[in-house]
Amino acid sequence: MPTKKNKSKTSSKLLVCEICGHKAARLVKRPQVLGKGAAMIVIEDVPVISCRHCGESYLTAETLHWLDQVRRGQRQLQSRYQIPVAAFV
Ligand SMILES: [Zn+2]
Repeated sequence: MPTKKNKSKTSSKLLVCEICGHKAARLVKRPQVLGKGAAMIVIEDVPVISCRHCGESYLTAETLHWLDQVRRGQRQLQSRYQIPVAAFV
């Protein structure tokens, strides 16, 4: 008989939400859009903290810094589609 210690279906651990302080947030990967029009860049798989307690989603300081570097052209992105699409690395 298997012991069921973990009731949750997902294996990703819960994080403490920086907004509401509840341990109900988890890391998800979502596309982020930078800029608009011809300068628009879609970045796939950007790590986002999503809280199921307060419903907020936010980026970590590290990710914001990375996105800022992308915006300033300090990061080399790999284009995969006709509009520039890059993956968080
Ligand atoms: Zn929260």
